[in-house]
Amino acid sequence: MGINHTPVGQPMPQSLQSAGQRLTQALRAAGLRLTPQRRAICELLGASKEHPSAQQIYTALKPLYPSLSLATVYNTLDALVSLGAINALGPAGDAAVHYDADTEPHVNLACIRCHRIIDLESDHVAALENEVSHTSGYQILGASVTYYGLCPDCQQEVEKA
Ligand SMILES: [Zn+2]
Repeated sequence: MGINHTPVGQPMPQSLQSAGQRLTQALRAAGLRLTPQRRAICELLGASKEHPSAQQIYTALKPLYPSLSLATVYNTLDALVSLGAINALGPAGDAAVHYDADTEPHVNLACIRCHRIIDLESDHVAALENEVSHTSGYQILGASVTYYGLCPDCQQEVEKA
């Protein structure tokens, strides 16, 4: 994060393991017991590009893990956020916190109509993160830069209506 960015085209050392594995290792390192439920939450978040909310994660996993509680989803997500392993993004017009397993600096674009959040790569965000950490002396654990608006699909549908 921040200063040790791999040049474009070079494989990241991180890519040797899946994002889900990276998250489960973070939980284990923090001393949390790795239950099948917690492992499933990590795998889902690591594989998702959808920036799911806690409720969406719960709804997706509940049929597979009937003993899963919403509290487990929340405390697992909270632990991952405080470890800097994932970022908590603001609501996408739906009053729910969305979670992002991609902690490399990037811009999130949230559509307030369909509540999708997509990623946008930007060198400016990486530069901003360097500036913030150097100026503040903080060890940056995560960041979210989120723009809100109407996605191109929703703009077309609004025009048609
Ligand atoms: Zn949209």
